[in-house]
Formats: sequence, structure tokens, C-alpha cells
Amino acid sequence: MEFKYVIVGAGLAGLTMAERIANVWNEKVLVIEKRNHIGGNIYDSYNEDGILIHNYGPHIFHTKSEKVYQYLSEFTQWNDFWHRVLTYVDGNLVPMPITVETINKLYNLNLNVFEVEEFLHKQAEDIEEIKTSKDVALSKVGQDIYEKIFESYTKKQWGIDPAELDTSVISRIPIRLNRDTRYFADPYQGMPKHGYTKMCENMAKSKNIKIMLNTDYKEVIDDIKYDTLIYTGPTDYFYDYKHGKLSYRSINFEFETYDMDEFQEAPVVNYPNDYDYTRITEFKKLTWQEHKKTTICKEFPCAEGEPYYPFPTKDCKAQFSLYQEEMDKESKVIFIGRLAEYRYYNMDAVVERALDIFEQMDNK
Ligand SMILES: Cc1cc2nc3c(=O)[nH]c(=O)nc-3n(C[C@H](O)[C@H](O)[C@H](O)COP(=O)(O)OP(=O)(O)OC[C@H]3O[C@@H](n4cnc5c(N)ncnc54)[C@H](O)[C@@H]3O)c2cc1C
Repeated sequence: MEFKYVIVGAGLAGLTMAERIANVWNEKVLVIEKRNHIGGNIYDSYNEDGILIHNYGPHIFHTKSEKVYQYLSEFTQWNDFWHRVLTYVDGNLVPMPITVETINKLYNLNLNVFEVEEFLHKQAEDIEEIKTSKDVALSKVGQDIYEKIFESYTKKQWGIDPAELDTSVISRIPIRLNRDTRYFADPYQGMPKHGYTKMCENMAKSKNIKIMLNTDYKEVIDDIKYDTLIYTGPTDYFYDYKHGKLSYRSINFEFETYDMDEFQEAPVVNYPNDYDYTRITEFKKLTWQEHKKTTICKEFPCAEGEPYYPFPTKDCKAQFSLYQEEMDKESKVIFIGRLAEYRYYNMDAVVERALDIFEQMDNK
């Protein structure tokens, strides 16, 4: 078999590259995918009750990038969805991120925007050098809010204390000093009108794209002649774990369907302190599907299983840098995506990365 371009992985990174190569350059491209479906972790499907679920956890598209939004809009229309999250603390459901309403509900107060700013200012601790996620939280909201909202949630999510995690984990949670309870502030947000899988199918529609499912690339790669390999799988696997296995955090998703119209008040409810799961998602509240039943998903973070989140610690980053040195020496292989680059990318970031890499490539 001969293909100028071979792509490992039919997630968003692989499909964006495949779509560009096939449609802009009119070149043939083979995509090899070990799962039995395309889409990677953004895959969605209808369950036995006919409810559209996100099989690998809730995915909400949001971006500041007009380029990414326009690009994906070629393959889907969007529902005008604005994400909302509630957090269950001390028997109350409070909005996340932290807003004026969150503080008022948590402390049974009736402060205005300026008073909340002052309140948080008084709570915040003066930390000389911010090195960890715990430092970030303490310097923004102080000990009490840190304990109520962030500490246990982060421990459940990562299995270690926030004091051992680098700053990237908690710094992603914004504090909003107004009454806007939308979860994301990005100008472009939405849900693909017919789901993520449909959007991915549209990206892969070109006759130039051949997809081989249920196949680990190592089973077939020696029998394929190619000029360039675009690799979106795990880097440690690519190098046969020569610098050891990279650590990831995984999640067990438990789906439950109820004979009721609505299960909870918001699309996602976080449980920082109660229960073993971190959050519950109600899919109908994301997709706006009308159905007399409803399906929810509980997330139980765990150490073993599918690699979802690269571990954000100094040691893990140092270990990955050994692989990075090898990657930099490759002339026929392009590494892209959250597994290959061992970093957490949101959907928009991975598409942007793929578009940028494609623009730098030369189709000789
Ligand atoms: C629980 C969870 C929730 C998320 N929520 C959001 C959200 O709300 N909003 C957002 O913007 N982003 C979200 N993300 C991030 C989003 O999932 C990623 O940005 C996106 O999926 C990354 O795409 P990718 O192609 O890099 O990786 P993937 O989707 O993982 O695709 C990689 C593909 O490579 C395949 N593969 C791996 N090894 C091999 C092999 N040896 N041979 C063949 N194929 C192989 C895999 O099966 C997979 O299909 C979330 C991620 C998780 C884990």
C-alpha cells in the first residue's frame, strides 16, 4: 500500500489534518484508528433509549478564535448553547465560576459587585512565589473558599494534593466579578447541531480520505509506504516506552437513564466534597434533545484506563522532555494532539494547532 500521507488517530487533530490535506492539496491520505469509530474523545452516539450522549464525557465547544469557529462551521451548524455549571457545597448549589451570586450563596450574604471584590481581596492570601495550584487558589480566594470548592475536587480529579500540581490546573478556573453565570466567557460557544460525530463524518467526507478502523498502526505501518506520518497517538507508545510510561489521569464514566424529563438544574453539577464522583452531566441539557427520559453521566477519576489527562507535575513534564528530544530529531513524523504532545488541549486549541501545522507544511 502506498499513501503520501498517513495519519495515526481519527480524533480532532487527525481529522483536521486529513481534511486539509485531502481538500486543499487534493492528496490521498490514510487515517489509521484503533477504536471502532472516528472522532476520538469527542465521539457522541445515541444510547439504547435514543438519547444522544457524549461517550467520553461532556464536550462543550468554546473558543476565542474566529478562525477555528469558521473552520468547524464548514462541517456543522451550531446550537446556540451557553454552558452553565453549578457546584454542590454545604447543601447549596452555587454557580461556577465564582461570581457575586456564588459568594452571596456560600456565605448567606447580600453583597454587591464592589463588596464581593473587597470580600475576596480580604480572603486572598499574600503568597510570595506562586508555584503550585494550591498557591494559585489561596492567592485568589483564600483558605476557606479553597477548601469548600477547590481542594477536594482537585484531589478527587488528580488523586494528589493541589500543592503537588503545577499552576496550570487551578489557574484555568476564572473568577468573575459580576453577575454573569455563564461558565465560559468566549465569544463563540455552541454544540454541533447534529452532534460531534456527524461533524467529524463531514470533515472526513472527501474521497481522498481512507479510514482504517479497529487497527493499531503498529499492526500495519511496516506494510505501508509513505512520505509523511502524522502521529496523534501516545508518544511513549510510539517510542516503545524507552523513557518509561507517561502518567495520565483516567476517568470511569457511569451512565444512568431515568424515566423523568429533567434530572438536575444545570447541564453539569460539580460535587467537590460529597460522593466519589466529581461531577454529573445531564446530556439533554447540552444537546437540547427532546425526550421523555433523560441520561446522566457520573465521572469517577482513576489512575488506570484510557489516557485522558496528561499529569501536570514537574516530574511528568521532565520525563516527557526526554521524548520531546527524540521527537525533535524525526524528519518524516509530525507529532500533534493531546496524546502526542502530552498536553491538555481543548477542542479549539487542537484544531488551531492542526491548522497552523498544516499551513507550515510544504506539499512537495
Ligand atoms: C473528559 C474530557 C472532557 C473534555 N471536555 C472538553 C470540553 O468540554 N471542551 C473542549 O474544548 N475540550 C474538551 N476536552 C478535550 C478534547 O477531548 C480534546 O481537545 C480532543 O479530543 C483532542 O483531540 P486529539 O485528536 O488530540 O486526541 P483524541 O481525541 O484522543 O484522538 C486520538 C486518537 O488516536 C487514536 N489512537 C491512539 N493510539 C493509536 C494507535 N496506536 N493506533 C491507532 N490509533 C490510535 C485514539 O483511539 C484516538 O481516537 C475534553 C477531554 C476529556 C478527556
